[in-house]
Amino acid sequence: MSSDDRGVSRRGFVHSAVIGGVGMSLPVVSATSASQAAAASHTSSTSRPDFTEQSAALSPDRTVTTACQFCNSNCRLRVDLKADRVIGVRGEANDPVQAGGLCVKAEMMPELVYNDQRLTTPLRRVAGKKGSPDSRFEPVSWDEALETIARKLLELRDAGQAHTIANRTTGRMLRGTGSLVARLFAMLGSPNNTDVGPVCNDAGANALTATFGLGNFTNGYGTDAATGKEDLGSARYLLLLGTNQAETHPVTYEHLLRERAKTGAKLTVVDPRLTPTGAQADRWVAPKPHTDYALVLGMLHHIITTGRHDQEFVDRWVLGFDELRDHLISHRYTAAWAAKVTGVPEKTITAIAEEYAAAKPAAIYCNAGISHQLGAFDTYRALTFLAAVTGNIGVPGGGCNFMHNTWPGDLHLPPLRARTSDRTQALPVGPDYFAESILTGRPYRLRAIIAQGNPLVSSANTLRVREAFEQLEFFVYTGLFMEEPAYYADIILPVCSGLEMEGVYMRRDDRAIRWQDQVVPRVGESRPDPEIWIGLAHALARLDTKRPDSEWREAFPEKWTDYRNLWAEFVKHTPGMAGMTEQRMRHRAEPLQWPCPSTDHPGVSTLYLDHPSWYEAVEALDAKHGGKRFLTPSGKVEIFTPELEAKLAPTGHGALPVFYTHPEVTGSHPTLRYKSDFVVNPINPQALTHAVSIGPRQGRSPHGAYPLMGMTGRPSVVHFAEVTHWTRTGKQLNGIRLIQIHPRTARANGIADGDPVRVESPRGSVTGTALLWEGIREDTIFVPNTFGPAQRVGDLYGAPRYEPANVLPDDGHYDNLSGQQAFKCFACRVVKDTQSSKGSRR
Ligand code: SF4
Repeated sequence: MSSDDRGVSRRGFVHSAVIGGVGMSLPVVSATSASQAAAASHTSSTSRPDFTEQSAALSPDRTVTTACQFCNSNCRLRVDLKADRVIGVRGEANDPVQAGGLCVKAEMMPELVYNDQRLTTPLRRVAGKKGSPDSRFEPVSWDEALETIARKLLELRDAGQAHTIANRTTGRMLRGTGSLVARLFAMLGSPNNTDVGPVCNDAGANALTATFGLGNFTNGYGTDAATGKEDLGSARYLLLLGTNQAETHPVTYEHLLRERAKTGAKLTVVDPRLTPTGAQADRWVAPKPHTDYALVLGMLHHIITTGRHDQEFVDRWVLGFDELRDHLISHRYTAAWAAKVTGVPEKTITAIAEEYAAAKPAAIYCNAGISHQLGAFDTYRALTFLAAVTGNIGVPGGGCNFMHNTWPGDLHLPPLRARTSDRTQALPVGPDYFAESILTGRPYRLRAIIAQGNPLVSSANTLRVREAFEQLEFFVYTGLFMEEPAYYADIILPVCSGLEMEGVYMRRDDRAIRWQDQVVPRVGESRPDPEIWIGLAHALARLDTKRPDSEWREAFPEKWTDYRNLWAEFVKHTPGMAGMTEQRMRHRAEPLQWPCPSTDHPGVSTLYLDHPSWYEAVEALDAKHGGKRFLTPSGKVEIFTPELEAKLAPTGHGALPVFYTHPEVTGSHPTLRYKSDFVVNPINPQALTHAVSIGPRQGRSPHGAYPLMGMTGRPSVVHFAEVTHWTRTGKQLNGIRLIQIHPRTARANGIADGDPVRVESPRGSVTGTALLWEGIREDTIFVPNTFGPAQRVGDLYGAPRYEPANVLPDDGHYDNLSGQQAFKCFACRVVKDTQSSKGSRR
């Protein structure tokens, strides 16, 4: 067997998938070594022959390159086909970051294609109560389905109710679908085209924008073409807060570990539980859930008051340093104070602060562990201050690398020539506000929703979301499977999975984008999302009596159903993207990093780098920023400015963050109180928000009845969102919900390892199987999310169907700036589930 010139052999794939993705047990795992090992196997007398290699049946007819669509490692895939069927999936060896690596999920991409649970035709509800598993649907043609939707949307618009129509996009769609949705909603007159960001990671981008000017991951993986040096791989210190990269971004984390083995960079992981990410760290720090904000304020106080900041960088590039220092001192946000709030010893906090400040460069990484906190925006802002005051921004190997949802800039279509009218203010940010709107009518009641994601599993306080969707007048679900929301739908639309589409799906966190070719024919009558929205626009053209059909057709030309034409429009009309042509991206082993203003520009790895290539990109992004290093109004890092203070003040926040946390965190801490009035959200000015005040918790502590703190999160590296629960591999490998409980806590509650348990919060309860784990705080339990009651694939393996974990968290307290929900702390208790033996793994 040999490694061929296209990448890693099948045997290499299996090797790298197992050690790189599932295990991550070795500190240094080189997936390149997989291909080298494969090549060596020809000559090694000790190697075993690979009988797949010379097999006529298993030799591919052809290989198509595409990209994995599960996580933002965004691995390039080489998919081998025989008789037009997928027979193998291999990683890209010629991308130095990917290095041939893949994780266990890559093999689930074809399982989305060859899956007997796929939706294959549009469906219309014919019987059953909304939400009932007994709901009955019948197949209809695409024309009939889209015209049914169009009729409802026009009926609402013509009744002056356009603002009561909403859409919620999700991360699974081809890039640019959101631009089509925005255009259609502009023509309809509704402001409520929302995305899934507030249940994912919008807050990081919001904070980055406020401090530095752009809402993107600041640094990149691989070589920075501007300097010729490794970017994030050159970090001398890695500070990870609320990110479990080994399970959420396995291949890029593996790259970091490989580079760390060369640099000796110290790795600190901050997380209330020990994950496979923390298992690789020099130091694992376990603060009380939802208190990272205090930890960071304590670090800032220590760095600044002991003179460990970078005065030269601050003098030249930072606005508001003196105000920050005075703020930290006047509020007494000392390391000792932070120790009391977080439960982390003071000397640990000062040690991390000193190490971070002394190491140059030092990189910060965060993900949902920070985003899913009540103070997400303010916590992220405090983290940007850490990088700013230590001069760790705009340098290779440094920065604030807030993961997962920091999309490159909006994709622009040609200017819309059709008439649009003034639109009502959008609902408060956060798709979870849909339920509030439907149930209370405040500030107005939504009447029609189209959803591409799964709000019935992903939104907080699921029981309330269910109640709302039962009452919703008209609901369209688009998806691959009969997921939970489908049972509430009036119309169901089948979409294609990733291997069935050409396009650009996702970028790596570091703004790096890949082209993907279509690998297999579409399943049934499924369609890619852009084609669905163009089709809906054409259905509107046929039925709209108030607008000439030519306006709809001109705004949504048929030729855009070919993604290559649509992408060409984005490249032509989006600032800073002129170099990201299909032709260029298609032939690259490595992804291309945004911004990339011309076809001879290498793309930007390090944002804000004091280098001509960065200034060239800035000029292309917006001429008004020409010559600026940071894209803020002042051109500097903005910690405090009177303008920023005035902008945030109406919401109850300020430029200098004041500590608060969720009221269900144990102890007595300041929290948010929501005013009944709405104000315009300065971070998302198209939308409203509730103003807040910061003060003590109102009412009684929930901890008498619910003494523990629960957190939700990814079950393991096996799963990505709900979709992998619809594959056999996903359910076979991780079909049981394993609830992590510290052994002493378990003993105190009469629970043994493997017992069926019930976790109860003030909102409801869910079941699972006790997993006794020393690597979690005694006051905390971990409940894996993304399980749901519709996931029938698990029935094959006797895996129980579960209530979603999001039955447990509170939906009443959310970040009023970013809209983020607080999934990372809810008051709860755990009891042995004597009613059920289900969920036991014995
Ligand atoms: S899930 Fe992520 S790490 Fe795994 S193969 Fe796909 S892109 Fe790569």
